[in-house]
Amino acid sequence: MKAFEIMEKFAHEQVVYFHDKETGLKGITCIHNTTLGPALGGTRLWNYESEEDALIDVTRLARGMTYKAAAAGLNLGGGKTVLIGDSKKVKSEGYFRALGRFVQSLNGRYITAEDVNTSTKDMMYIAMETDHVVGLVGKSGNPSPVTALGVLHGVRAALYEKFGSDSLEGKTFAVQGAGQTGYFLIKYLLGDNELKDKAKKVYFTEINTDYIERMKREHPEVEFVNKDEIYSLNVDVFSPCALGGVLNDDTIPLLNCPIVAGSSNNVLKEERHGEELKKRGILYTPDFVINAGGLINVYHELNGYNEARALAEVKLIFDRLLDIFKIAKEEDIPVNIAAIKFAEKRIETMKQVRSNYIPR
Ligand code: NAD
Repeated sequence: MKAFEIMEKFAHEQVVYFHDKETGLKGITCIHNTTLGPALGGTRLWNYESEEDALIDVTRLARGMTYKAAAAGLNLGGGKTVLIGDSKKVKSEGYFRALGRFVQSLNGRYITAEDVNTSTKDMMYIAMETDHVVGLVGKSGNPSPVTALGVLHGVRAALYEKFGSDSLEGKTFAVQGAGQTGYFLIKYLLGDNELKDKAKKVYFTEINTDYIERMKREHPEVEFVNKDEIYSLNVDVFSPCALGGVLNDDTIPLLNCPIVAGSSNNVLKEERHGEELKKRGILYTPDFVINAGGLINVYHELNGYNEARALAEVKLIFDRLLDIFKIAKEEDIPVNIAAIKFAEKRIETMKQVRSNYIPR
């Protein structure tokens, strides 16, 4: 597909190609929608097989950011940058400063941050050339514990919806992945949360032996299971915190739980898998809503970071999910579709709200 075909199909505003001969920088920034505010989305460095693959990825990811920011109640639009190259070879100060200059050339329409294969150190170089970068050292910090906290609020919303109480007491969990987010989520489930309530039982699975050992050492009460066993455990919540695409035609029939709620992006392999969960009476918490804690946290850097304010806003994930569950019930549609409707409605409403002229 060519750039304009994609842009017309999904209503993208802007796609910018950039190149710096000296450093080998080669990339694309995509701004999907700026109705709510500047487009924010990380910079992903990847050895794409073709220019077309990079274009498809950046436009898809930018669109996803529009929905994520809108559903999170942020005054942000959706954007993304992809850099084409081998992360082991291309990185240098000059490379990222050249990128920073291109970000600056967009004059605040796009704000960048870390993503796959880019780090806080890379962001420091970008920040030497532009103000339009977040996720810097000494500001909002590591997003993962905050993402996991948002997931905890999302888990509570799902428990409330299914059982009429948001308490973890007496509830059982199967967590897939004990990396950056899964590790913190398990800690919160074990009682390290503001209400100090504690799950009855947590199972986990991992493939990284260091992380398995860490969990066994720190929390021996959390039971390890083999990676293929995690889906069929008889628990209240299955919490995917590892990879995307884990709920598909093969795994959905294995599920033995009333709720799916975790940090992973793109949990459903295809959109239709949301309908499959609905048919089975399994409540799904849409990924881009429940895992927005990190984005909400980083957004607060733009207004002078205040941790208490950021965390209070992360807590609103609870309320937003209840609103989305309500739409799904009233319209008898899968929750993943209801979440998109919820985000689109906010964008449309704000377009109307801002349609009159008010001097400021
Ligand atoms: P991570 O890489 O730190 O953790 C994922 C863990 O899953 C790893 O430890 C890995 O060994 C394990 N894993 C991989 N495949 C597995 C399998 N088949 N079975 C069991 N374990 C497996 O990543 P993360 O930062 O915790 O992110 C997890 C998910 O959450 C990703 O989909 C990510 O896109 C999403 N997410 C993360 C954040 C964040 O703030 N870190 C924010 C939003 C969304």
